Amino acid sequence: MELLLTSHDDLSFNPGSIQPHGVLLALSTQLVILQVSSNTQDYLGKRPQELLGQPLSSLLDALCLEAIAQLPINEIDTINYLKLSVRTNEGKRDFDGFVHRVENTIILELEPTQSPVPVNFLNIHTLIKGAIAKLKRTNNLIDFLQLTAQQVRNITGFDRVMVYQFDHQGAGVVIAEVKTEELSPYLGLHYPATDIPRGAKDLYKRNPLRIIPCIHAQPVELIPTADDTTLDLSLSVLRSVDPCCVEYHQNMGVAALMVIPLIKDEKLWGLISCHHQTPRYVPYEIRAGCEFLGQIVSSELANKVIQEEVDYKIRLESLRSSVVESISQADNFRDALIQPEPRLLGIVGATGAAVCLDSEISLLGATPDIENVRSLITWADAQEKDNIFYTDSLPKLYPEAETFKDTASGLLLLRISKLRHYYILWFRPEVIRTVNWAGNPNESIQVNSDGTITLCPRKSFEKWQELVRLTSVPWQKCELDSALSLRNAIVGIVLKKAEELAKINQELETINRELASFAYAASHDLKEPLRGIYNYSIILLEDYASVLDEDATDYLQTVISLSVRMETLINGLLRLSQLGQAALHLQAVNLNELLEQVINVFDASHQQHNLEIRIPKALPTIQCDPVLVNEVFSNLITNAFKYNDKAEKWVEIGYLDREDAGNQETQRQGETENLNERLSASPHPSLSTSFLDSQPAITFYVRDNGIGIPVHHHQTIFKLFKRLHTQEKYGGGTGAGLAIAKKIIERHGGQIWVESTAGEGSTFYLTL
Ligand code: ADP
Repeated sequence: MELLLTSHDDLSFNPGSIQPHGVLLALSTQLVILQVSSNTQDYLGKRPQELLGQPLSSLLDALCLEAIAQLPINEIDTINYLKLSVRTNEGKRDFDGFVHRVENTIILELEPTQSPVPVNFLNIHTLIKGAIAKLKRTNNLIDFLQLTAQQVRNITGFDRVMVYQFDHQGAGVVIAEVKTEELSPYLGLHYPATDIPRGAKDLYKRNPLRIIPCIHAQPVELIPTADDTTLDLSLSVLRSVDPCCVEYHQNMGVAALMVIPLIKDEKLWGLISCHHQTPRYVPYEIRAGCEFLGQIVSSELANKVIQEEVDYKIRLESLRSSVVESISQADNFRDALIQPEPRLLGIVGATGAAVCLDSEISLLGATPDIENVRSLITWADAQEKDNIFYTDSLPKLYPEAETFKDTASGLLLLRISKLRHYYILWFRPEVIRTVNWAGNPNESIQVNSDGTITLCPRKSFEKWQELVRLTSVPWQKCELDSALSLRNAIVGIVLKKAEELAKINQELETINRELASFAYAASHDLKEPLRGIYNYSIILLEDYASVLDEDATDYLQTVISLSVRMETLINGLLRLSQLGQAALHLQAVNLNELLEQVINVFDASHQQHNLEIRIPKALPTIQCDPVLVNEVFSNLITNAFKYNDKAEKWVEIGYLDREDAGNQETQRQGETENLNERLSASPHPSLSTSFLDSQPAITFYVRDNGIGIPVHHHQTIFKLFKRLHTQEKYGGGTGAGLAIAKKIIERHGGQIWVESTAGEGSTFYLTL
């Protein structure tokens, strides 16, 4: 980056010489000439020896001497200007005079007033006034500085006018530029802090403008040459130029330059730097105008910078609230967070990001690859404090990052949840990569016409390169705040959602409990009057048979059978409501033994049945409530027998091998997903939880060769009191059996479902 010394003429360099476009006289406080530049003959027509030891009155008339005496030269860091008419050997000559004091020495510098074209004051005044009016109307900092560059160029006519800004480490970047078309742009280029020594920076604060009309001009020595006390030329307007700076600008093709410091909060904030390819003298009036403009820009700068910071914060905030809004409204957290991509990057001004939710990582923009991101999370998570970790030199802390420094020399990790393994990582590239190189930086290191090589820029460049290597643009406080606010908002949303869910769950639980106890109370209480109806009907039928005619007897018979039916229904309901409330008595149960009991009871209650019960392989021992599981198998076996019109009925009880179970599960998962889709946004919680839990569970089956169940009833048969046949057919039933079986299985955290082909048979699958 070869702007290194552009404006950084080292003001701390004290050469004991001046530039040749004027003369310098060092005077005692009694205005006796003590020292002069060796070029007095050129401007004053007198040799130095003729002037040394002479009073200033030998050059100036009483009026000018009086004017000098009136100047507030004792004021520190004040360079006073006045027009002076000097008596030279060729007669009177007008000069622009600059007077300042260094300890006991008064320094008078004279630049011949530029003629023959006298500078039009009114014109300059109008130009400056116009410039200031335009600047006042500009809000945006960059526009403001671009306009400043434009106005300075309008006023001075330099080929190129740039505005540099220093960062917190003192390195600079060109942030505004106006130039003639043929020049290549320097906008966006950086230069290192080392190019502007602290002393030089301090002096820029004291010198409102620095002008070098001809960089190639031979410097002029002071006479007598400095002995033990060197004249301090820090505030001299003619002071000559550091040779390194001269070489540098020659390499750049710059012949003349002018620099106006920009001061904010009493610190050097930046510089307005003007270049010209040919020597260019700028008359004092124009310099004064620019100086004034520089001061106006400096005083406006604080407002503009604050405004810029405020604008940036507002921008971050608006991006953040947009993300938060998306998250709070969307079902898919990840999508809401990462789309659109620039939004999440903009929240902290990053060039890449990785969003890690559990083990799934999404990459946005320029990032390291997934594996590197994964390792990085593990490392950075251990460094994190208060849920955030950031660095602008990741490879220096985490050497593995050197391989991906181009994308992640800067890292900001935000931990949203350690438990859930939720992280957002933002990346910034190595700053050296972000530099918009104007060609090969070494190209400007030229072999000069005399064969010498200019090394300053290279050294300077190397120093800078070393400084910015493996480093990104630092994270600003407002960016870190933005990240933390995003985290708070996400956590807030998640908490709110969890709270809402907990509230709904609680309400549901209460409703469920109330319903269960209502069902229990209702069914329990109904039983008594029902029994009364039944008993009295029987009494009527038995004891009053003689007074009842045939119709009345029939009616009473119907009352009796209806009350019996009603009692079975109520029993079903009662059983179901009991199941919801009773605790499970889990224990290791050998299913072979359990089924033996079931079959014994079945045999006892179905004398001489023709059902073949097959158990092809021994069943395992599982954790369950034996009484309830007994009820399930007994119901399924009874159904297999009831809903079968084959001459040779059979039922087979077994369990699936792991492989078969896997296939079953995949198929089942498809069904579950379809079902979930149908249930839209609110998938049945028991389905998903039990599905997750079902992975290691055994899938049992009860298969029969019965009448089968039409596909559209595969779900409905598990509903309470759902029957597919009339009471008279297939031995009747209340339609409560499968609902009770389902409830029992769900209480065990399992699932039950059926596969069936009408006319061929059914297979009930269950997991426990
Ligand atoms: P029910 O007490 O009426 O048998 P269930 O809840 O046990 O009630 O069954 C509900 C309905 O599902 C039955 O009415 C029957 O139509 C059908 N069903 C149950 N099991 C089978 C099976 N193994 N084969 C064919 N249909 C069956």
